[in-house]
Amino acid sequence: MADCLFCGIANGEIPGDIVYRDDSVLAFRDIDPKAPVHILIIPGRHIGSLAELEPGDGEVLGHAMEVARQVAVDQGVAGSGFRLVVNTGADAAQSVHHVHFHLLGGRSLAWPPG
Ligand code: AMP
Repeated sequence: MADCLFCGIANGEIPGDIVYRDDSVLAFRDIDPKAPVHILIIPGRHIGSLAELEPGDGEVLGHAMEVARQVAVDQGVAGSGFRLVVNTGADAAQSVHHVHFHLLGGRSLAWPPG
């Protein structure tokens, strides 16, 4: 989608520190990390948010969770623990309108979140 930051990273127009890529999912380091490991996992095709899912979108998001597990292994946090976060909409402070999993790890993460 034009003017979408994460579509730009997915199609190579905008640089990203990519740690994983396949035909449908991409993972790259967050530019402003909130934990020692902070990776964003996105579908390559544009889906705005979890609130806008359409029938069939679950397949790519399920795959994104499988990728999250593999990225956690690769980043060395699968054993120590990690968190997946999907901010959705204004109250959750979603700032990029392309659905993404935040994979956070490498430190103890407080609960509940703010
Ligand atoms: P959210 O607020 O849940 O929509 O998360 C968006 C995330 O994208 C934030 O954690 C930002 O730090 C991150 N971000 C913004 N621009 C970039 C970029 N160019 N490359 C990597 N991460 C980015």
